[in-house]
Amino acid sequence: MIPEIEKATINEIKAFQEDKLKETLQYLNINSPFYKRFFKENNLQVSEIITLEDLQKIPVTTKDHLQQFNDDFCCVPKSEIIDYVTTSGTLGDPVTFALTDKDLERLAYNEAISFACCGVSKEDTLQLMTTMDRRFMAGLAYFLGARKLGSGIIRVGSGIPELQWDSILKFKPTYLITVPSFLLKLIEYAKQQQIDINNTGIKAAICIGEPIREQDFSLNILAKKIKMDWNIELFSTYASTEMSTAFNECEMHNGGHHHPELIIAEILDDNNLPVSNGEVGELTITTLGVEAMPLLRFKTGDMVQVFNRPCKCGRNTLRLGPVVGRKKQMIKYKGTTLYPPAMYNILNVFSEIESYVIEIFHNELGTDEILIKIVSEAVSDELLLEIKDHFRAKLRVAPKVEFARPEEIEALRFPPLSRKPVDLIDRRL
Ligand SMILES: [Zn+2]
Repeated sequence: MIPEIEKATINEIKAFQEDKLKETLQYLNINSPFYKRFFKENNLQVSEIITLEDLQKIPVTTKDHLQQFNDDFCCVPKSEIIDYVTTSGTLGDPVTFALTDKDLERLAYNEAISFACCGVSKEDTLQLMTTMDRRFMAGLAYFLGARKLGSGIIRVGSGIPELQWDSILKFKPTYLITVPSFLLKLIEYAKQQQIDINNTGIKAAICIGEPIREQDFSLNILAKKIKMDWNIELFSTYASTEMSTAFNECEMHNGGHHHPELIIAEILDDNNLPVSNGEVGELTITTLGVEAMPLLRFKTGDMVQVFNRPCKCGRNTLRLGPVVGRKKQMIKYKGTTLYPPAMYNILNVFSEIESYVIEIFHNELGTDEILIKIVSEAVSDELLLEIKDHFRAKLRVAPKVEFARPEEIEALRFPPLSRKPVDLIDRRL
């Protein structure tokens, strides 16, 4: 199930997106209180925006805009809204996203073609290992997508390895939708219970929230650890509430495919200009076909690289590489640009490290410093040296690493109000 437009030529895809862009701009100009004002303040005539390149005439929309003027982004009366979703905002309060019936249908279509990208068909059954409520969009999108595709879906929710295994053995799903690190917990449980993990009928896992590949698309250490015990195919997916669109890997595993009927993607530098071909930049999106809260040139904060050679799977749409990091978490360290995920990858190589926290702060010169605190039973200078050497080999620089007491790291990793463990403490703000 590949939509025709995804097999069209790059020029045809561009022309198609320009038509959709025109519709979107007209819609915003009539229905969006925020963008109506925004166009006026910036002396913009939407009729003058014709090509994708013309988008550069429009200033970007930021997360601060969304937070400050949240209600003004909504283009429909309350009676049209079916589902309410929230995401964490930049200034503390959550940002609300509303979806109409048509938006839910768009979300279902998005997830159906994204699942299809990962080889899921009507014959498959998916086990959903993420939450469907708590005002999250993702779980609901997976359910709607499976329903549209005609696949089976088992809504187990997150955690509880025992219940997950009970469900796998009882209903024989073929795909898992999960945070990849949770697969390690499932493997551990299966070993304890002597479950024959490679004879359970699971073909693949669709991995959310954490990267499973390096920038060259080879499997990262987490993915290798999983595959060592469990011979399943791992697909990466990247999505967000603001985009209401997913970028899923196809069977070629060389980046997440763009769906041109749903979103326009630009990769911008610090001056909001397009980066040169293949450079890392900030993903900036314009949603297409969204009714309640469409976004125009919204800066996602995610640093990515684009690949635009046609894919062997038959799709000609561009592909996004693994997210390099969050823009605001970028670290300039001894002349090198680093992002936390690359450091997590290195630390995860060492089985001696039981847990860790990365602290970033400004030194007296105002430049970035990194201090990694680790917990290990094997406290030794040799281990510290080995870790630093590995950092130098992979990232060219070695941050300061020191041992810490387990209680100290626990307290740092699990602050009272956090929903998930904290790996990074950024004290630069
Ligand atoms: Zn492909």
